[in-house]
This record gives sequence, C-alpha cells and structure tokens, in this order.
Amino acid sequence: MNSTEVIQWIKALIQHKNIKAFYNSILWLNKRREALDRDNNECQKCKDRGLFSQANCVHHRKHIKKYPELALDLDNLISLCNSCHDEEHPEKLKNKPKPQLNVERW
Ligand SMILES: [Zn+2]
Ligand SMILES: [Zn+2]
Repeated sequence: MNSTEVIQWIKALIQHKNIKAFYNSILWLNKRREALDRDNNECQKCKDRGLFSQANCVHHRKHIKKYPELALDLDNLISLCNSCHDEEHPEKLKNKPKPQLNVERW
C-alpha cells in the first residue's frame, strides 16, 4: 500500500467502526515501536514533570478520527503511561459513574 491507499484504508475502517484493525496491523505496530524507541520507552508527559514512568501506550496527538492522514506520522505520536494516556482521552471516562454521588443523601 502506498500512503494514499493507507489513508483510504484508515478512513474506511473509521467509517465501519473497525479502527481496531488498524491497531492490530503491522503498519501500526512497527510505527508504534518506532515512537517508543524514539522516546526511550518513557512517558513523555511524566518526563515533562520530572518523573520517570515506563510508557505503555503510543498516543496520537491529533486524533486519528479527525486526522487519518497523520495516523502513521511519527511527529503525531507520543509515548505515554496509562494514566497520562487516560488524561488525554477524557471522552473515555465520560460514561463512568461520578465519584461521591449520593454521599450526602440525608
Ligand atoms: Zn505518564
Ligand atoms: Zn490516545
């Protein structure tokens, strides 16, 4: 696949809500490895705070759904630990029940 075909493929996956197939593809796994190598397997957000955390996710700064053309762009990727990655995706937390609800019931 050339890069135009890759972008078409990613767009089609998004349309069919099958983006998992992208994350399972060798194209992504290789690129993810590259990003982790570049960042020394270190969470870049923790690093900015002077902390060290092992990175276990590679995040798209510009989300793949909006910018499929940047899905495999190394400059758009950043290595993060799980908790920093969650911070980057508040939409994932939306459906969780809010803590402290009903605390003052009486
Ligand atoms: Zn972190
Ligand atoms: Zn992410």
